[in-house]
Amino acid sequence: MELHGTATISANGHLAVGGVDTVTLAREYGTPLWVIDEEQFRRNCRAFRQAFSSDLFPAGAVVLFAAKSLLALAICRIVEEEGLSLDVVSGGELHTALAAGFPMDRVYFHGNNKTQAEIDEAYQAGIARFMVDNLHELDLLEGPGRTGSGTRSGAGRVPVTLRVTPGIDADTHDYVKTGQQDSKFGLDIAGGQAMGAVKRVLDAPHLDLKGLHCHVGSQLFTTEPYAGAAEVLMDFAAEVRRRTGWVPEEIDLGGGFGVRYSNGDAPLEPEAFARAISRAIGKKVSETGLPFPRVIVEPGRAISATAGWTLYTVGSIKEIPGIRTYVAVDGGMTDNPRPALYQAVYEACLANRAGETVDGRGTGGGRTVGGSGTGGGHAAAEVFTITGRCCESGDILIHDIALPRPVPGDILAVSCTGAYNSTMASNYNRLPRPAMVLVNRGQVDVIVERETYDDLVARERLPVRLRRRASARRASAG
Ligand SMILES: *Cc1c(COP(=O)(O)O)cnc(C)c1O
Repeated sequence: MELHGTATISANGHLAVGGVDTVTLAREYGTPLWVIDEEQFRRNCRAFRQAFSSDLFPAGAVVLFAAKSLLALAICRIVEEEGLSLDVVSGGELHTALAAGFPMDRVYFHGNNKTQAEIDEAYQAGIARFMVDNLHELDLLEGPGRTGSGTRSGAGRVPVTLRVTPGIDADTHDYVKTGQQDSKFGLDIAGGQAMGAVKRVLDAPHLDLKGLHCHVGSQLFTTEPYAGAAEVLMDFAAEVRRRTGWVPEEIDLGGGFGVRYSNGDAPLEPEAFARAISRAIGKKVSETGLPFPRVIVEPGRAISATAGWTLYTVGSIKEIPGIRTYVAVDGGMTDNPRPALYQAVYEACLANRAGETVDGRGTGGGRTVGGSGTGGGHAAAEVFTITGRCCESGDILIHDIALPRPVPGDILAVSCTGAYNSTMASNYNRLPRPAMVLVNRGQVDVIVERETYDDLVARERLPVRLRRRASARRASAG
């Protein structure tokens, strides 16, 4: 496992993140525990802000943090402080941003099936942009715009950007591909649906068409899909101008910037994406004579993933001689469904024994921890399968990871769990969701409390007739 962010190994051999001993964290706050490295989260925000604030973008650029990857009130505040805007996809995410006091003129509302109630609420709140995914949504948008109700300043036209499918088939897992023509998302350019939608928006007096959006997929490691999508969008914009005279103020290229979950992943710096996008748009600006648009990007995991760690306690260990050793932890697919959902690969180390196998000869000059297989006087690393505690054979967190032999009570720290872990968590098997702590420079703050058993039944109601039967049975039994 590679140390990243503020992670270090303390003199006592424990993994520390944000200047805090993770073994102490596990003891004081319990496990499973989501740990957010504030400094690393902020660094990732800044890397995107810097890459996209340069003169590569003559009309400016906006970085939206994709809230679906990691969201809490405290996260909203940090995102605001770092000067990023927010991409939300539901009334619940919008509500969280509102509750955090996040400036609504920096909120962009995505989603392929927004409800009328969500649209009305977002309109009242005065969000920056409706990212319109389909024609049905245009029907729903007629309500708020036409009546002119609401507390929006400069009342009137609803600012919309159209999500189109550029017909780009990104090289990633099928479940996170979104740019190809056969997708549930967006208005198809090739089939003419996008042009139809543009015309409809331009004809609607209550709608203000700002730009075009696409999102080609997630966990991408090359600049080509972004450059390609930028070119398709600019070509489409040129065609729209020819037919209608409209020119886009903004081009939004979505998120999906790849991160290093494990050794096989080689992510690019935000700079590389910024340069490629700027170059592709610049080329089309010269070809078409369109003005250089404002550029928007929507990183989610590239900001949140490497800021997160999950701490678990090792419990049962099942050795099947000659086949495999299963090491079970006290969480699993409930707090991290990604391995079961997309065969996602994670790395981990034993937080209380991280010093045991420090291996200075790790690949790529990175700081690595845990059995990399090179031995060299360190505790022998063997290969284990880390399983969760859910009643599913698919509840495997990590296949074949090299570690010093774990024993019950060890603390396993899985790295790079900041994205799509807490936001995808469930209560399967009635496991309460973990707490989330923010660590920074030796300070610890609980930003999400651990769910309790009472929380699990708090919203349940027992119909009176069932209650009566139960008490009748008890009475007759007594
Ligand atoms: C999921 C999503 C993102 C963020 O994706 P990451 O892979 O986390 O960067 C951004 N924009 C849209 C429209 C998305 O659906």
